[in-house]
Amino acid sequence: MKNLPIRVKITIWFTAALVVIISITYLAILSVSRQVIQKTIRDSLIEAVSHNIDEIEYYKSIEEANNNGDLDYYVSYNGGILEIDDDFLDEVNGIFTALYDSNINFYYGENPIAKETMSYPLSDSVIQTVSVNSTLYYIFDKALTQPGLEGLWLRGIVSEKQGEGEISSISRFSLIALPILLVLSVTGGYLIAKKMLRPIQEISEAASHIEKGGDLKKRIEIGNGKDELHQLANSFNEMFKRLDESFETERRFTSDASHELRTPMAVIMAQCEFILEKDRSPEEYKKALTVINRQSKRMTVLINDMLDYTRMEMKADSYERQPLDLSQLVRSVCDDMALIRDKGIILSYDAGDSIQYCANRYLLTRMLGNLISNAYKYGKENGHILVLLERKNDEILLHVEDDGIGISSEDLPHIFDRFYRADNSRSGKGTGLGLSMVKQIASFHGADIEVESTPGKGSRFTIRFAFTEEKDSR
Ligand code: ADP
Repeated sequence: MKNLPIRVKITIWFTAALVVIISITYLAILSVSRQVIQKTIRDSLIEAVSHNIDEIEYYKSIEEANNNGDLDYYVSYNGGILEIDDDFLDEVNGIFTALYDSNINFYYGENPIAKETMSYPLSDSVIQTVSVNSTLYYIFDKALTQPGLEGLWLRGIVSEKQGEGEISSISRFSLIALPILLVLSVTGGYLIAKKMLRPIQEISEAASHIEKGGDLKKRIEIGNGKDELHQLANSFNEMFKRLDESFETERRFTSDASHELRTPMAVIMAQCEFILEKDRSPEEYKKALTVINRQSKRMTVLINDMLDYTRMEMKADSYERQPLDLSQLVRSVCDDMALIRDKGIILSYDAGDSIQYCANRYLLTRMLGNLISNAYKYGKENGHILVLLERKNDEILLHVEDDGIGISSEDLPHIFDRFYRADNSRSGKGTGLGLSMVKQIASFHGADIEVESTPGKGSRFTIRFAFTEEKDSR
């Protein structure tokens, strides 16, 4: 049972329930029809006897009785004559009527169980039952009260089996109709279950296709609809889409990362091979080791950046946001970084007055740090860096501005891509991950990032935090 498809299981349960319902219905139909038919038989018995009462008349003499000239039956009784009309029904539809006196002496009519009921007491207007040869009979006695007929009784008799014909035709009809109904319901039920469960089958096929290494581009096509199964299929499609996107991101990241690591590795290996080829002078060893040292440092920076980047991407949810004094954070980062004084560059800032925002301290420090170190990296000798934090309408703006080499319009659309480095920085120490991390952190905080830059004049990066009263101010 466990291994059967759901539609078969549903059909089996449905069929079993229907069989029980149909059997109960069949028995109920039989029992009700039996009761109705028995009642009809008893009513017909009373009706037949009542009808026959009016067909008996008493006359004092035969001459008096003969007056009407009908073809009637005559029998002497109590010094006179009983005239039994030819409309008297001795037997009609299995109902027999016989005329008796109080001592059960037979006068007229028919009684199929006359011998067996000879001693059966007369009881006025009551239906009694008697069993003869395992057949049940209903007996209905009626005392006659018309003048001259006192002491006479009409006894009606009918077998209970009289209604058997009707019952067996009802039973036969039910035995044919109910199974047909069962087959139709089961077939209909099976087809509906199959149609309704089709989306589940589609989902299962798509999932197993993906599990067997099929492509994540596959989608469950079950047309339009708003029921639970359509919702489930849509959720699966959404899940496949996100999985596809994250696999694609991971695949690209792995390929980009290995590509980035290949260059320093190649330089290190070439240097090693060069110095191991033959004996080298101490200057040559020193030069080779310096190159190896530089490339190793570069690889270390790259690996650390990659780790930070993936950690941020994979565990974005685990970074908590808390109400922060942004002004104080900007001040503290700028104070630290102003000490770098690389290329004689001077960093100045205006951090506003206690601007509050709900953010993650570590990530914001990292973001601002990346922007400022880029400004140093791509700044001119004795240049300037300006960091500005301000609240404008319902936004908080963070600007990092420099008067450095700037970015060309061709590079501008790509600087936030992973591992992207503009031509002007190819020879530098950058890994191409700094700005993509900035973008990641900005979007984690629901912030936008903009950049304006003029080659040779400088660049200005702006982060726009949407300010919401209830969440961010305290
Ligand atoms: P990198 O590690 O190379 O600095 P980033 O992702 O931080 O990587 O920056 C990507 C590229 O954008 C840099 O290689 C550089 O060409 C350009 N860039 C970033 N910031 C600046 C800036 N302040 N001035 C000029 N160019 C910049």
